[in-house]
Amino acid sequence: MLPSSFAYVAPTTVDEAVQALAAGGGDAKVVAGGQSLLPMMKLRLAAPGTLVDINGIAGLDVLEEADGMLRIGALVRHGDLERSALVRDRYPIIHDAARHIADPLIRNRGTFCGSIAHGDPAGDWATVASALNAELHAVGPDGPAVHSARDFQTGMFETRLGLDQVLVEARIPQPVAGQGSAYLKVERKVGDYAAAAVGVVVVLDGDTVTEAGIGLTNVGPLTIDAAAAAASLVGRSIDDAAALEEAGRLAMEASDPPSDLRGPAEYKQDLVRVLTKRALRTAGARARGEQA
Ligand SMILES: Cc1cc2nc3c(=O)[nH]c(=O)nc-3n(C[C@H](O)[C@H](O)[C@H](O)COP(=O)(O)OP(=O)(O)OC[C@H]3O[C@@H](n4cnc5c(N)ncnc54)[C@H](O)[C@@H]3O)c2cc1C
Repeated sequence: MLPSSFAYVAPTTVDEAVQALAAGGGDAKVVAGGQSLLPMMKLRLAAPGTLVDINGIAGLDVLEEADGMLRIGALVRHGDLERSALVRDRYPIIHDAARHIADPLIRNRGTFCGSIAHGDPAGDWATVASALNAELHAVGPDGPAVHSARDFQTGMFETRLGLDQVLVEARIPQPVAGQGSAYLKVERKVGDYAAAAVGVVVVLDGDTVTEAGIGLTNVGPLTIDAAAAAASLVGRSIDDAAALEEAGRLAMEASDPPSDLRGPAEYKQDLVRVLTKRALRTAGARARGEQA
């Protein structure tokens, strides 16, 4: 199907993009990679009056560490993250996830920030951003705004981003000593969204977990911050099988998946339990430098 007609603007600055969104009066949409928005427009599930194409705005492709944070600009593609040596060496959870998003064509166009702005609970990046406790930096007519990735989604395909705001970049705290992370995803077939996926970040002092973050993908109406599961690990050994079992159980209890073509709810919940334990073991090994 063809999309309904729309106006197209191609700003060259973030301020121009914000002005174009404001001029659209809630009927304008940013297009970044177009890998979620354009299919929705073709299916007439979305019919924005104006597309604000941010691809011509210089500087939004920033991918660098600065001031203690990893900056991921609004035009950083899934494939940029997959191929980045910095990401592979220092942010294994991001590298893990990037390799399993869709297919290479989509990975070359779709963006990290676009995925988060889209607010799809099946999106892998919102989970990764939640586990890493990312800051989401937006700009709107009232100036800059910073949102936490942990409560950014407010409903299915709904976020705290204003209709007239551009998500300019995500900022992720740089890893500290003893940090390890992992993202594990089970998909029905290569390139599919997750039946369930789990992202974990741990910080170890010796074998003891001092900090943890756990996010869950596609097992509820929102990306899930499994905070109780993460908190249960603090003060316990990463080698304590009972601690990992408890975290897996609490993560499972935080999930609320529907039964659908990707499997029955009970199967997906059990996936969450098992993937959480496995991801924690991998993150623990990485924190100790035992595994890439
Ligand atoms: C066949 C297929 C398989 C896929 N599989 C997966 C998968 O396995 N895992 C996964 O996570 N995703 C998957 N996706 C989605 C893909 O990752 C998209 O690239 C991503 O969801 C959206 O990023 P985008 O840059 O393409 O955003 P766009 O499609 O351009 O935009 C999506 C939405 O976000 C808004 N938006 C985008 N950027 C900004 C911004 N900077 N500021 C404000 N609003 C913004 C747009 O207005 C729109 O509402 C798949 C897509 C397809 C078509």
